[in-house]
Amino acid sequence: MKTSIATVSISGDFREKLAAIANAGFDGVEIFETDFLAFDGTPAEVGRMVRDHGLQITLFQPFRDFEGMPEPQRRKAFDRAERKFDVMGELGTDLMLICSNVSPLALGGIDRAAADFAELGQRAARHGIRVGYEALAWGRHINDHRDAWEIVRRAGHPSVGLILDSFHTSARKIDVNSIRAIPGDRIFIVQLADAPLIDMDLLYWSRHFRNMPGEGDLPVVDFMRAVAATGYDGPLSLEIFNDQFRGGSPKSIAVDGRRSLVALMDRVRREEPGIRIDVPDMPDRIVVEGVEFVEFAANEAEGEELGALLSSMGFSLAAEHRNRDVSVWRQGKAGGINLVVNTSHEGFAHSSYLVHGTNAYAIGLRVADAAATVARARALGAEPFAEQRGEGELAIPAIRGVGGGVIYFIDDRLADVWNVEFEPVERTAPAGAGLLAVDHVAQTMNYEEMLTWLLFYTAIFRTAKLPMVDVVDPAGLVRSQVIESPDGRLRLTLNGAENRKTLAGRFVAESFGSSVQHVAFATDDILETSAKLEELGFRPLEISPNYYDDLEARFDLAPGLVETLRRRNILYDRDEGGEFFQLYSRNFGEGFFFEIVERRGGYAGYGAPNAPFRIAAQKRAMPPKGMPRLS
Ligand code: MG
Ligand code: MG
Repeated sequence: MKTSIATVSISGDFREKLAAIANAGFDGVEIFETDFLAFDGTPAEVGRMVRDHGLQITLFQPFRDFEGMPEPQRRKAFDRAERKFDVMGELGTDLMLICSNVSPLALGGIDRAAADFAELGQRAARHGIRVGYEALAWGRHINDHRDAWEIVRRAGHPSVGLILDSFHTSARKIDVNSIRAIPGDRIFIVQLADAPLIDMDLLYWSRHFRNMPGEGDLPVVDFMRAVAATGYDGPLSLEIFNDQFRGGSPKSIAVDGRRSLVALMDRVRREEPGIRIDVPDMPDRIVVEGVEFVEFAANEAEGEELGALLSSMGFSLAAEHRNRDVSVWRQGKAGGINLVVNTSHEGFAHSSYLVHGTNAYAIGLRVADAAATVARARALGAEPFAEQRGEGELAIPAIRGVGGGVIYFIDDRLADVWNVEFEPVERTAPAGAGLLAVDHVAQTMNYEEMLTWLLFYTAIFRTAKLPMVDVVDPAGLVRSQVIESPDGRLRLTLNGAENRKTLAGRFVAESFGSSVQHVAFATDDILETSAKLEELGFRPLEISPNYYDDLEARFDLAPGLVETLRRRNILYDRDEGGEFFQLYSRNFGEGFFFEIVERRGGYAGYGAPNAPFRIAAQKRAMPPKGMPRLS
């Protein structure tokens, strides 16, 4: 598999782009004419720079408004093409993209266009150049790859071929299986892009909202399966126009791009087993069986405060690490909830504490095969993580998460870690508050980074994304996106903050990019749990009484129930599947909190309609900047 990316896809000046693209492991670049015009080197220098980075130029683009022109525009178009052929010779590339004509002057007719391409093919061949024809979704006469292919076929010149672009085909909902009949060697390059489904002008959608395969909603896997069936084995080239990417980090956008292509081709190989696809061998997407633990980094004083909060939620101090200052707080039966508090003065946890303050820096996920999980993550460009081990400590496979945290993987062979590395502590009260498991983990990041996180999780794990939801914070918008495994055993909510005045944005800023902002626990009886919590001295986040008046009106709940919810500060929601109850802790540190939920029936959401009320309550409870915190 040869991978390529258009220089317009990422930010930075030309040099930065090339460095980021080469470092991410791409084989080639599409040179966009504007990128190269803005650069002050000659075409020969640009070509040399590209090759010095170990890259090849897979495509020179775009050449517009060529086919079907009346005279004198026709002759001018040919002259223009000849000049570009010269530039391409100096650059050192042999493939030019010609996109379908959008000029109002353009005349229709498949044969007229085919004749123009036949002549262009002859002229290009003299320069050792090939031209590829791409149907733009908004082309004046040609906006469907099937028509573009017919023109290429009738042109009948070996230097004229087809260029496919997943966006143009999918945006017009053209049946991708029509690609299967095209001979693979007549396809000169394949461009890939995904996009969120938005009903808008095609040109505007394409120029601003494209994203990496897997980040959007288009059927890129099906498109690529059809391409693979043709026998095409040329470069897969990302052509992504996205405002956010243009403003983002060149390094991380390039890494995302490469990851998206590897994950895509791994999917295609599994879904088209009869086709030989050249993609690194790796285990299939990993099934997560649950959250085994969440680990906090803290100093002694804050570790104690955290312990007190956990204790008020029914957790017991269950075990102490044999070699390190690490304690385990536990609730529920075996396989319940393990919360680890790490106050050591060395290692990654300590560095994380120094940077972010007390924070949930690591998550442990239960999987069938921890080593295989890391193997897949590595094949997708994730960074493995390991720390120096003390005597008798297990090697627990782990990777770095997107935000700099750590994800550990626990399989059956490692499940004994709690006994091997830890000394049990004599169990004392409290005896629990009915919390059974981790329901979801919520991570917060800057909105621009959200797609990076999404791709990371969905590429490595067998998960799907739910539609993005807007959460209104009084100070701005927060975008929320859920990633879930099919059985709900892994549920992550990603919250993208657009500014630092929102609660989410403030958390990202004040904790210097710590990511886990809340952990939600499941109970099967929220009323009983909240009664126990009250006995244990737990102080819930106080919800405005007005919320409950509205609740009564919206859901037609029994007045007695509403009164109980109000007294216990429990939020309520309902969907077609069932009911949802939420109870929040007060903030800990720079805006971290716990949530307790009960899903009754088949409620599938996360209480998004309640988020504005929760956020308002948290903001009321928050000290002004520079003041000690309340909780
Ligand atoms: Mg294209
Ligand atoms: Mg939540």
